[in-house]
This record gives sequence, C-alpha cells and structure tokens, in this order.
Amino acid sequence: MIEQDKKDERYKQRQSKIKENVDKRVEDAQTEKGLLIVVTGNGKGKTTSGFGTVARAVGHGLNCVVAQFIKGTWDCGERNLLEGHGVPFYVMKTGFTWNTQDKAADTEAAQRVWQECKKSLSDESVDLVLLDEMTYMVTYGYIGLDELKTALQNRPKMQSVVITGRAAHRELIEMADTVSEVRNVKHAFDSGIKALKGVDW
Ligand code: ATP
Ligand code: MG
Repeated sequence: MIEQDKKDERYKQRQSKIKENVDKRVEDAQTEKGLLIVVTGNGKGKTTSGFGTVARAVGHGLNCVVAQFIKGTWDCGERNLLEGHGVPFYVMKTGFTWNTQDKAADTEAAQRVWQECKKSLSDESVDLVLLDEMTYMVTYGYIGLDELKTALQNRPKMQSVVITGRAAHRELIEMADTVSEVRNVKHAFDSGIKALKGVDW
C-alpha cells in the first residue's frame, strides 16, 4: 500500500512537471499569423486532412477556397458538401495527368487554376486556401516553384494555406510552418479492394 502511495506521488509529480512545461510553451507561443501547412508522404490521408482543415475553418465561419490540381474521373464528396457552404472550388478539368500524356494541355489546365489561386492568395478576405495535389504541379513543371513561393510569401498575414501531395519539394518543406508526412503502412487497394465512394473520394 505504501509502495502504491509512493508510485502515485511520483506519477503526480511527473504529470505536474509535464503540465508546467506545456503551460510554459503555450504561454511562450505568442506569434499570431496564418500558417503554411504541407501534408505529404505516400500514405492515405493527405487530401482528407486538407479538407478536414477546410471543414474546421468553415465551421468557424471563415472564408475558404479550394483548388484541386489533379482530378480523378469521379466526383468528389467534399466538393458536393462544401460548395453548398459557399466554398469556391477551382478544379483542373483534365483527368489524372498520366492518362492524358499531353504536357501542353496539362500545363494550360494547371495554369488556369493557378491564376484563380493567385487571386485568392492576394485576397485579404480569404482565410484559408487548400492547394490539393499542388506538389505534382511543381514536380512536373506546370507551375514554377519560384512563382508559387512568391505568392505564398506575399499572401495576407493571417491567411493559412494547406498544400497536399506526395514528394513535396524541399524548398516548400523549408518554407512551411507545419509539415506532416503520412507514411503508408498498408492500403486496402494493395489487397485488391476497390476504391470506395465516401471513403476514397
Ligand atoms: P485521401 O484523399 O484519401 O486523403 P491522399 O490524398 O493521401 O488520400 P493521394 O495520393 O492523393 O492520397 O491518392 C488519392 C487516392 O488514392 C485516394 O482514393 C486514396 O485512397 C488512394 N491512395 C492513397 N494512398 C494510397 C496508397 N498508398 N496505395 C494505394 N492507394 C492510395
Ligand atoms: Mg490526395
């Protein structure tokens, strides 16, 4: 019993030390600014994370804009929902690029969406911009890295941006405030399970 009391006491002390540290860090975090968030990696969960953030922001009455740079042939549940809540969507009209094999057409389609993004990235009234699958646009050279970085650097101070997609460019990772890498542990598709409406799109 006495042993147990000692353990409880040590546990309490440890917890209170942790709480002290956390409280101090919360107190120290005084900078207020919009965030650049990059969600990258090979696992499932990047786009859903981006849309989760959009849903969170919309739930607080904030203004969001969504750009989707690689569009599948199926419709998108998040778009069906969020357009109904006044979130504008700019979507590349081509399918997955590796189906089209037409660099000029892909570049033009990407640039058309990008021009809309640039307007949002200089609009004070926009609180959050989701650039879904943007990493590929940089990798394929459809959108210039420097142009993207300049637009991100010059955006309104309180505006947040979420960039998703695999293999994010090193310079985007350096520039971002928060970077998460989603690691693939396993994916249903590898067991021959079909992509599922409401789960995969
Ligand atoms: P999600 O949209 O579900 O968050 P994601 O954005 O992380 O996924 P993408 O690389 O954009 O993943 O791929 C989009 C589609 O491919 C989704 O339908 C997703 O379920 C599927 N997918 C994601 N990761 C994998 C994987 N490792 N293997 C097979 N399919 C995947
Ligand atoms: Mg995705």
